[in-house]
Amino acid sequence: MMALVPRHRILLLAALLAGGCARAQAGPPREPGRFRAPDLVELTALDPGIKLDIRYATDRNFVGRPVYPEARAFLQRPAAEALVRAHRALAGDGYGVLVFDGYRPWSITKLFWEVTPRDKRAFVADPRKGSKHNRGCAVDLSLYDLKSGKEVQMPSAYDEMSPRAYPSYAGGTAEERERRDLLRTAMEAQGFTVEPNEWWHFNCKDWKSYPIGDVPFEELGAGKR
Ligand SMILES: [Zn+2]
Repeated sequence: MMALVPRHRILLLAALLAGGCARAQAGPPREPGRFRAPDLVELTALDPGIKLDIRYATDRNFVGRPVYPEARAFLQRPAAEALVRAHRALAGDGYGVLVFDGYRPWSITKLFWEVTPRDKRAFVADPRKGSKHNRGCAVDLSLYDLKSGKEVQMPSAYDEMSPRAYPSYAGGTAEERERRDLLRTAMEAQGFTVEPNEWWHFNCKDWKSYPIGDVPFEELGAGKR
């Protein structure tokens, strides 16, 4: 059938498709509807007991170089307050939360997509849709031991793109699975839901209410640090 389509039509179609892709990638997707005004809060300002290990501000991440200029973490206020409640509840078991990432500017999501091989893209968000991190409504975290201050062992490393990252993964040690499940229970008690292929990633329940953001860290937190 292709032979019946005039060549100039095919070229026009190709140009339109290429143009469409370029436009979609140029900035955050525009979404219809009304959204709540963003109110990004710095987590350590709400509770200094929340530990940070902002891997994207270091070279210890899957990109292999720092992509955040500052090691800071933000969430929309209701999510930040829910996280503080989970952190305080976990103290009863001897743990605190160790946050790897919260709000993520959209431009960084776009970068992750571009550097991730096609067969691993189930583990990163499509920039054409944005991510819940872009909305300030997702947090990546683990636990730290309150006595030693050290990060605990979980069934997989953070950002590991393998089945070990699944919250349902049955391997690893019993202690690792218990800690993973303890984190999940504490987060779910505060209204978060776990991502089906990442034990460390939790979404807040009203993420649809917030727009995709692309404000860089440097412009956030005046008076909130
Ligand atoms: Zn995440």
